[in-house]
Amino acid sequence: MDIHHDDAAVKGLDGLAAEVRRDLARLNHPPAAWTLPAEGPDGRPVLDVLVVGAGMCGQTAAFALLREGVANIRVIDRAPRGAEGPWGTFARMETLRSPKHLTGPDLGVPSLTFRAWFEAQHGAAGWRDLYKVPRLDWLRYLLFVRDAAGIPVESDTALARLWPAGGLIGAALDGPAGPETVHARKVVLACGRDGSGGRRMPGFAAAGTGRLFHASDPIDFARFRGGRLAVLGASASAVDNAAAALEAGVPDVTLFVRRPHFPQVNKSKWASFPGFLRGYAALDDRQRWAFTTFMMEEGTPPPHESVLRCTRHPGFRIRFGEGWTGVRAAPDGLVVETARGRYPVEAAVAAAGFEVDLVRRPELAAFRDAVLTWGERVPAAQAEAHPEAARFPYLGDGMQMLERVPGAAPDLARLHVFNWGVTMSHGALAGDIPGLGIGATRLAQALVRDLFVADADRHFARMQAHEDDELGPTGFFVPREARRR
Ligand SMILES: Cc1cc2nc3c(=O)[nH]c(=O)nc-3n(C[C@H](O)[C@H](O)[C@H](O)COP(=O)(O)OP(=O)(O)OC[C@H]3O[C@@H](n4cnc5c(N)ncnc54)[C@H](O)[C@@H]3O)c2cc1C
Repeated sequence: MDIHHDDAAVKGLDGLAAEVRRDLARLNHPPAAWTLPAEGPDGRPVLDVLVVGAGMCGQTAAFALLREGVANIRVIDRAPRGAEGPWGTFARMETLRSPKHLTGPDLGVPSLTFRAWFEAQHGAAGWRDLYKVPRLDWLRYLLFVRDAAGIPVESDTALARLWPAGGLIGAALDGPAGPETVHARKVVLACGRDGSGGRRMPGFAAAGTGRLFHASDPIDFARFRGGRLAVLGASASAVDNAAAALEAGVPDVTLFVRRPHFPQVNKSKWASFPGFLRGYAALDDRQRWAFTTFMMEEGTPPPHESVLRCTRHPGFRIRFGEGWTGVRAAPDGLVVETARGRYPVEAAVAAAGFEVDLVRRPELAAFRDAVLTWGERVPAAQAEAHPEAARFPYLGDGMQMLERVPGAAPDLARLHVFNWGVTMSHGALAGDIPGLGIGATRLAQALVRDLFVADADRHFARMQAHEDDELGPTGFFVPREARRR
């Protein structure tokens, strides 16, 4: 993806990249690497951290590690450069929901903020006049941060499988040079919303007809210009899919919403103040369960901008209180069934979101039965009442996975989650932008701690061997062999 627009923007961004280099140098970035080398079972050097996924969360986690002098890392993403995450792929909103001043991927470096990136191209007046962050600008900005901060991302490289490898984690990767096995002390799972489990897709009869889509599918809406489209859901994605269809010329789009009206209040927006973001993980299980299940139940209203994108089209309708009970194939389209009627349509989009169910991930098959989930930490009736929340992994203080049975899978805690799956345990520190900086910092600090503690004996030996000729230039320097206690 080309991150530049025009000559003035190119110049502005080149100048900003130089400013970033100056800022990072002033912060003594990168600090000296301090981790100790080790060999894997194959005789090859072991990675300190393998970061899987280089979307917003993975790249920020990697940046946080580099800021701490952990440079023996690899950061992989199965997507080509610029196609990481939703922004340039399946997201269909015009702007981000978040306010423009949000920070996070910058990790506190002013020249790496979105504002700095935008002002470098459009000036202070451009920033003042900007309403919200255009979707593709967010992607371009993330790529700028990656390049300017020197975050080494390997694109087109997928993680296929992880396994315990006697005090390490083995990982099967597949990249441009072919399959490869690596060993790492730690793995960060920054695989995104779908990487936290999978897409939620109701099992309707019309599956496989090429007319029933998930909202995150690539969809050529212009194909359905002649007819009707049905969209299921009340989320931002549901409404943005409806808007994209209307704007592509689909004349008749109906949104089917199970609830009697849209969710009205975005509780997670309320929960984006420092006290909540930093303090949530210190709450007991009962409190965390209460906060997050309440937020989940409340739902999130679609942004008003997205709704207005739809309502300006005369062919847009909403049917509240009418979820789908079935979708069947018909000779020239589909029939959407609800408790109240049957609706012939050309195509249908289920904006059913993503499910957190880490143990569903094929990459984690070797650990499937070992992972402790929230369902095992709360009373059975609670888990039954909130099955989605119950599937979230119950994570430790560094977002590491924990064993269901102590001692059964000692390498499990080498896997750290840094995607939506952290939300029950830590709050939204690895999903939405407001918590990202706090989350990446917490994760990196935990990794740094664990890497140091695991090698404490080797570090002790190094400390004993360490020499520093501080007094060399004076008359009081004593060589090692002549020193007395
Ligand atoms: C449509 C949409 C709009 C959103 N708008 C906002 C918003 O306005 N404000 C806000 O705060 N949040 C928003 N979010 C939420 C959140 O910010 C995004 O989901 C964001 O992309 C999360 O970043 P991530 O790094 O966790 O995941 P992603 O950006 O999805 O990145 C995960 C990466 O992992 C890679 N990956 C997965 N599995 C593997 C594997 N096995 N091997 C290698 N790579 C792998 C994927 O290719 C992907 O690039 C939005 C989300 C969506 C879906």
